[in-house]
Amino acid sequence: MKKGSYYDWARQKGISRRDFLRFCAMTAAMLGLDATAVPRIVEALENKSRPPVIYLNLQECTCCGESFIRSAHPLFSDLIFNMISLDYMETLQAAAGTQAESVRLKTMQEHYGEYILVVEGSATLAEGGIYCTIGGMTANELLKECADGAAAVIAYGSCATNACVQGAHPNPTQAVPIRRIVKNKPVIDVPGCPPIAEVITGTIVHYLTFGKIPELTSLGRPKAFYSKRVHDGCTRRAFFDAGQFVERFDDEGARKGWCLYKVGCKGPVAYNACAVTEWNDGVSFPVKSGHPCMACSENNWYDSSTPFYAHLAEIPNEAIGGNPDHIGLAALGVAGLGVVAHGGITAAAGGRGKKNHPAGSTDAKQRRQVTKKTNDKED
Ligand code: SF4
Ligand code: SF4
Repeated sequence: MKKGSYYDWARQKGISRRDFLRFCAMTAAMLGLDATAVPRIVEALENKSRPPVIYLNLQECTCCGESFIRSAHPLFSDLIFNMISLDYMETLQAAAGTQAESVRLKTMQEHYGEYILVVEGSATLAEGGIYCTIGGMTANELLKECADGAAAVIAYGSCATNACVQGAHPNPTQAVPIRRIVKNKPVIDVPGCPPIAEVITGTIVHYLTFGKIPELTSLGRPKAFYSKRVHDGCTRRAFFDAGQFVERFDDEGARKGWCLYKVGCKGPVAYNACAVTEWNDGVSFPVKSGHPCMACSENNWYDSSTPFYAHLAEIPNEAIGGNPDHIGLAALGVAGLGVVAHGGITAAAGGRGKKNHPAGSTDAKQRRQVTKKTNDKED
């Protein structure tokens, strides 16, 4: 056991060997690794020093940071503060101003080429980047400076990976994903608004264990978490397959937990681990708790997914052999009422969408194009 390692810290905290080994086994399972990987994870956590991490907050709302510090499993949440050496994070550190910046520079000098750079928020290009400045530098300059000495860069959250809400039409600050700025280092995209905390802890454990970034999808995301659609693991999937759909949020289908596709669920085009990992130690995830998935992990998601409560066009349902739009109401026995209500909801949502999105994302033809674009195929 190396002094200063994660296991060293865990022992000092009174964490038993049994709990530590369970944590390693859970991590391997989460990363999609088989049992033979567990000893390697154990060895890495016993012997490797905690890696320094610089965490930047660029154009964002801090919901990703909130998620980051709320990893549910006790050892995962401890990982945030103890497995890594979180040297710089503006939203958590007590230091401010010159004092804070000097900590960042010191970490960069002492651990050049070794530290992990986590970036939350998008960069901004408009007017030379003046819409986001930190410590007297634009976000772009800060990002480049920090990325130069990093071993790897993790773009954490949808702002950092796809510019998210700031990047939505008309994108006044010209917000861009950080891989548009960082060209000389591997960038691991961990999208979500916010991402699931265990995804970033799992990504860091993988890096610690194997000394390299995890296998990525064609879009640059860790395969272990972003290879499957929310739809594939959804707790309501049986209802989709059976053609049983919620038509209104207060109808009988909603009370019975039926599929949310017709009230706007974008789970069929969202590649994310929400349905598998869930949130808050596996308590629930948005769809399970009654809200449609908004596909927040997908590129251009805000423009593509709004209006949020209008459904995707033409997602085939092979199990029921047809278009879900024509199925489900009869089962409720409220067809007429349902059609009017659903039409009303869609029209109301469409009206809002048209106002907010001159590109006309509610138009069925354009929506099909948007859906096609959103549904980027993952490996
Ligand atoms: S459409 Fe949404 S609610 Fe329905 S099964 Fe797919 S992910 Fe679940
Ligand atoms: S359920 Fe959908 S909208 Fe919600 S966090 Fe997961 S991918 Fe994002």
